[in-house]
Amino acid sequence: MSDPLTEHDQALAALRTVAEAAGPYLEELPKRLVHDRSRDGLLAELDGPLPERGEGTLASVERLLRVGTEAATHSSGPRFFHFVVGGATPAAMAGDWVTSLLDQGAGLWATSPLAARAETVVLRWLKDLFGLPESFGGVLTPSATFANLTGLACARAWWADRHGVDVVADGLAGLPPMPVFSSGLVHVSTRKALQVLGCGRDSVRVLARDDAGRLDLAALEEALVALEGAPAVLVGNLGDVNTGDSDPLAEMADLAERYGAWLHVDGAFGLFAAVSPRTAHMARGVERADSVTADGHKWLNVPYESGFSFVKDPAWLGRAFGAWDAPYLPEPDEERINYNMLGPESSRRARALPIWATLRAYGRSGYREMVERHLDVSAHLGGLVEQAPDLELLAPVRLCVVCFRYRPPGVPEEELNALNARLGKALLSDGRVFAGTSVHRGMTMFRPAALNWRTTAADVELLVEVLRELGARLID
Ligand SMILES: *Cc1c(COP(=O)(O)O)cnc(C)c1O
Repeated sequence: MSDPLTEHDQALAALRTVAEAAGPYLEELPKRLVHDRSRDGLLAELDGPLPERGEGTLASVERLLRVGTEAATHSSGPRFFHFVVGGATPAAMAGDWVTSLLDQGAGLWATSPLAARAETVVLRWLKDLFGLPESFGGVLTPSATFANLTGLACARAWWADRHGVDVVADGLAGLPPMPVFSSGLVHVSTRKALQVLGCGRDSVRVLARDDAGRLDLAALEEALVALEGAPAVLVGNLGDVNTGDSDPLAEMADLAERYGAWLHVDGAFGLFAAVSPRTAHMARGVERADSVTADGHKWLNVPYESGFSFVKDPAWLGRAFGAWDAPYLPEPDEERINYNMLGPESSRRARALPIWATLRAYGRSGYREMVERHLDVSAHLGGLVEQAPDLELLAPVRLCVVCFRYRPPGVPEEELNALNARLGKALLSDGRVFAGTSVHRGMTMFRPAALNWRTTAADVELLVEVLRELGARLID
């Protein structure tokens, strides 16, 4: 066996194998260990030299499925609170299977009018969901990192244009460094995007007024005044990964307007604050930004890889990523859009399809309900932390992230960072619940994020129980 053409009749059998395994896997997901380290040995079965003779469609897929369902990190289940990770709603997961079945090239309208139209539709739905003006341009990206890259590439093209330079054609040579201002909430992916764009990872000037990194608006205004009219880029952060905190976007938009700056907002998960009237105030001002980033594989609960970039003046997307010979400017009502002219990719997956399926399945009210459930679950976790004598809440619970540390009575302050780091490791090897540590105001702490569609109060109750149990064992 070596040629897929001789095995074309195996496609259905292989897909059926996956579909049949999906039932039990999804059923067990809420009960499994998040990661079962005793299964790590199975990973060796993926290894070995490139086979000379293939083992055939079914044998290959069965092996992958067996190793995968046992040895994977079951991060799409309800108890993975590490980093900021969503799951996949039933409709999104099935939509993703359809994407693979159809295997569309979604870069050009000519290769898939289906993918292009679906992308146009979901971008419009998402703007509606987030309260962004319909006139904004947009493009789907593989992630928020790519969306930051996309938005900041537009910012860079705008900034260079203000200096009379076409940076897309001619590059950065001869230009001064691009001034970029943000708060201490700025995410590493913004720095990575600036690094890739040749502006430099360290070009971000952080203007913080306290050790939590909150924006010093007065210092920002001073910095803009000092530029004497030269253009600058402001990065507003909507939803910090440690605390869920956000920058004052409306005030930043005021400054951007007053001093002629570009406002980019990273709302990878925080943009979903706009989905509930309970948190919409946090997103106030984002509709005045010049570019906005969000993720689909986080709070929208669409499988990897899924992100979105929105740009107020759609022309910048075409200028930053369009063809050699002519700037690409689709008309607002145009259907034949070549999305590879609006973003950094060329060939690309039809990532609109799972987004379409999930938005169509659950609608605005379904997402509002889910977001509000996560707000409740996070507030509940915050309450449990406050009640526990050996846990300490380190920041108010604003969104879906809860920032706290283990602080049993009698342990001196200078030992707490090491204790929390050890507890973090113990939690991950235990495997019942996943949450990681980070550093906030010099303190090693936990920052579980509750945004998986399956997560309920019982899951965060278990997190508290397991943490306290493992912690008590460490100090014994
Ligand atoms: C997760 C995250 C990112 C990066 O998103 P990816 O999808 O992992 O590339 C950027 N900014 C913030 C605030 C995030 O939470």
